[in-house]
Amino acid sequence: MTTPPPLRGRFAPSPTGALHFGSLLAAFGSWLAARSAGAEWWLRVEDVDRGREVPGAALAQLRTLAGFGLEHDGQVTWQSQRGELYAASVSRLLDAGLAFECHCSRADVAATGGVHRACRPGARRTRPALRLRVPDGSRVAFEDAVHGRTAQQVDRDVGDFVLRRADGFWAYQLAVVVDDADQAITDVVRGADLLDSTPRQVLLQRTLGLTTPRYMHLPLVLGEDGRKLSKSEGSLPVDAADPLPTLRAAWRALGQPPSRLPTSGPLRDVLAAAVAGFDAGRIPRGPLSATALHNAAAMPGP
Ligand code: GLU
Repeated sequence: MTTPPPLRGRFAPSPTGALHFGSLLAAFGSWLAARSAGAEWWLRVEDVDRGREVPGAALAQLRTLAGFGLEHDGQVTWQSQRGELYAASVSRLLDAGLAFECHCSRADVAATGGVHRACRPGARRTRPALRLRVPDGSRVAFEDAVHGRTAQQVDRDVGDFVLRRADGFWAYQLAVVVDDADQAITDVVRGADLLDSTPRQVLLQRTLGLTTPRYMHLPLVLGEDGRKLSKSEGSLPVDAADPLPTLRAAWRALGQPPSRLPTSGPLRDVLAAAVAGFDAGRIPRGPLSATALHNAAAMPGP
């Protein structure tokens, strides 16, 4: 008898700044989903875009996660060290005629509403980008554990998307698909800002003959200005020296009853109670307001 492959979740932050409340919510939500299902939970540093990387941010993020008691399995992987894997996948696509060199400039693509369907005749760049050729009629649907059935007409809404940028960096959409498959990730749990990237990723998985994992997109947390919190703008960094208030706020933001967590005690016990009491069916679609969460945290819970 063969043993089934392990269930495996992951958290994959880009090192563009300190973890903020929204990214901690994604980390805690994916950790809870994994641990409550008896799954492994892996960490991957998504440092493909060296231009946006903040020196020291990746290690600080890993320290923060450890400070919150979110222990991981396996070795931490770094996308900056996995270029050969991405190159091999793109070569396969190029050889099969499923990807192509694109010499269009940003302005060329902007002129067609940001959706690339064909190269401008005669366009020439010294370093072309590489794009996936998205066939006409590429409607992709997937089942999201929180948002239900989600569909996108990828050719019309996104167009041929970039796999390697003109500046030579591998694109997020390519790296995430290759890594999730290479690492045998079965459950992708992440912020809802990536909900509309998922059809592109599913299309790329199908084109490369890879398995599609299960997806769950967690509510976004919006700042006072109504915009998504951002690591690169330094929004609301979380403090690993005092993890409990933040974990309780994240627990509540995930729609979980505060009464299921002990009000005090060691972090280890609070996390064990969280794993035992976690119910993914309660997660709201959001988005959530950071101010409302803050005010609710100041009040006694149900
Ligand atoms: N690296 C992405 C981020 O920090 C997350 C990618 C993913 O979970 O697929 O927003």
